[in-house]
Amino acid sequence: MSQPSVHEIYAVKYGQNLTGVRGHFFLGPDGDPHDEVMRLDYYVWVIRSPGQDILLDAGFTADTNRTRQRDHWEDPHQAVSRIGVDPATVPIVILSHLHYDHCGDLDAFPEATFVLQKDELEFWTGPYASRGEFARHTETADIERVVRLHGEGRVQLVDGLHEVVDGVWVQRVGGHTPGMQATYVRTDKGVVVLASDSSHFFENIEQDKPFAVHADVVDMYRAFDTMREAATSGLVIAGHDPLIEERFAAVPGHEGHVVRIA
Ligand SMILES: [Zn+2]
Repeated sequence: MSQPSVHEIYAVKYGQNLTGVRGHFFLGPDGDPHDEVMRLDYYVWVIRSPGQDILLDAGFTADTNRTRQRDHWEDPHQAVSRIGVDPATVPIVILSHLHYDHCGDLDAFPEATFVLQKDELEFWTGPYASRGEFARHTETADIERVVRLHGEGRVQLVDGLHEVVDGVWVQRVGGHTPGMQATYVRTDKGVVVLASDSSHFFENIEQDKPFAVHADVVDMYRAFDTMREAATSGLVIAGHDPLIEERFAAVPGHEGHVVRIA
């Protein structure tokens, strides 16, 4: 019998936001230092096994950044090519959710199938997507592109817990957005959970503090529980946290850009 697949995980940073403060990020009690600057990093995630690289999320492009004005270093497909990912042949890109900083660079992956929760696409094509508090986190062109790709048969809509490839699963957890999904990866450390925006910072899940942007706070707490339970490695990796660079080792030659999670 063949061994079950284990994967390596790399976090590839392609930009950062240096203008956010804690008050933008946390539903804080009184006394939290809401005006303290807090860096937020932008990552794409490479899930690697022999002969196969799949991605979690596809970031945002320099084009989108003309209006967003972050500290944007390079497009996500350029960032992942630093460690030998060939964007032209990537077979699968998991989309954790459809906020602008997660689904912008899809055209750079011409062979990919995009894996998304059906609840997520339904929400962003539904009646509440255009309301201000939701709309400000998306780009209309991104949603239209996903709809077009779905029409071309390149979006796989899943519902709940789904095995993407051997040793990689997604699960709808909701909370941050209605169809937000977490990704579970079997590694030599056990199952590692890639939270993406189900826990922007380690502080969210480790101190049980919901993020300020959400569709449902109950689901956000429930997502923390679900992810903790799934992480047999003990590792739930926050999606935007500068501490990733302190907790995990840089890939030699790619310091400041790529760390290896497992
Ligand atoms: Zn988000």
